Amino acid sequence: MDLEKLNKERIYISSLTEKDDGKKVLVAGWVYDSRDLGKVRFIVLRDISGEIQVTGIKSSAKEDVFNMMKSLTRESVIVVSGMVKKSDKAPRKREIIPESIELLAEAEQPIPIDVSDFSKTELPKRLDYRFLDLHRRKTQAIFKIQSTLMQAYREFMIKEGAVEAAFPSIISSSSEGGTELFEAKYFERKAYLSQSCQLYKQMLACSMEKVFTIFTVWRAEKHNTIRHLNESRQLDYEQAFANEFVVMDVLGRAVQYIVKKVMEINKAELDMLGLKLKVPGTKYMTFAEAVEVMKKEKIHVGKDDLSGEAEKKLGELYPDTVVFVHDWPLSGRPFYIMPKKGKKGEELSCGFDAIYQGMEISSGGQRVHLPELLIERLKIKGLNPKDFKAYIDSFRYGSPPHSGWGVGLERLTMLILGLDNIREAVLFPRDRDRLTP
Ligand code: ATP
Ligand code: MG
Repeated sequence: MDLEKLNKERIYISSLTEKDDGKKVLVAGWVYDSRDLGKVRFIVLRDISGEIQVTGIKSSAKEDVFNMMKSLTRESVIVVSGMVKKSDKAPRKREIIPESIELLAEAEQPIPIDVSDFSKTELPKRLDYRFLDLHRRKTQAIFKIQSTLMQAYREFMIKEGAVEAAFPSIISSSSEGGTELFEAKYFERKAYLSQSCQLYKQMLACSMEKVFTIFTVWRAEKHNTIRHLNESRQLDYEQAFANEFVVMDVLGRAVQYIVKKVMEINKAELDMLGLKLKVPGTKYMTFAEAVEVMKKEKIHVGKDDLSGEAEKKLGELYPDTVVFVHDWPLSGRPFYIMPKKGKKGEELSCGFDAIYQGMEISSGGQRVHLPELLIERLKIKGLNPKDFKAYIDSFRYGSPPHSGWGVGLERLTMLILGLDNIREAVLFPRDRDRLTP
């Protein structure tokens, strides 16, 4: 097959309309299904855009074409040249009467997983064969939507006047303390895989003002849950001259923009997944108010952390809403979050969590930009300021107050689409047990 010619002349299945009826076209894709009724043979051909029926009639088809239609295995790759014919019975109200069929790649049988729309293959097996799972239209739909999501995030941020940044993923020491790190060998030294770009995006915001990135992070936590991965991507944002309320507003609008774009661009994929989305609203409450709500609902919350159960409850009480829980107790926040006093003198912070559809999608807040306060906060958290010298020093020469947040890309995809496992929302998951494919 001349692939250059194919690229020039090929038509995507979803673009076939009335105007093509009676015309000769070239289509290419995978054999989704085939049926042999003796005198008539059908193939359902699938490309990235959709499916169409290819109909061979014994009395009028070329013999070699008709014979070939019987031998094609499912998921084999073919190029079909033929006439488009109006047909009320066919799914797209039209079918293709083939003049020639060329086999580009035969799929061996049996195929190790069921890739039909009705597949009951369980997730772990599907992930073992992710390359094949990606033949499924539902899987494709998820990742087409995730592509829109990333694109929309970029678009939104650029409209906000933010600069896209690229940060290092190999670091010399822990940037946050707390989270466990994966070790890496860096020539004769020990290095780590980054668990966040926190410190870098702060340094950048202190000169470039508004910065964003889509950044891969690694966390060596041994949990095995439906909402954690050991490698994930984060939509990060940081802004100078801003407190936590400024950036919560940005986050709320970012999520609204993203969902709206998905609704506009991915109608077909949402239909395929059986989903109707709503652009979320926003709601603000203090941590203390959230605790009150949970008391009424008889749901346990920690003294400085919401439980998973509490997050779930917030999702039930405020569906399709980004709930910002702010004025978070200081003890429950990392050292780099700015402290503040509550009305009764409580030790609060400028940190917040954003909860959406019953799960945390983001943590953020105003940062400590004052070197002396940073040293004090590090000590209180049991960390050694010496280990953070470069970070602290970066704030000595004109660093404005600044705030920011990070949203898990896979977590957000999972919640927008109501998926029941975060692994559905990552092409090639890395978790406690999985390092391949
Ligand atoms: P959680 O409480 O849900 O474990 P976290 O508070 O440890 O999350 P942060 O450090 O606040 O996570 O990270 C910011 C965001 O990144 C989270 O709100 C979440 O959307 C996402 N995220 C965090 N950890 C993971 C993970 N292990 N796998 C996938 N996404 C994650
Ligand atoms: Mg968090």
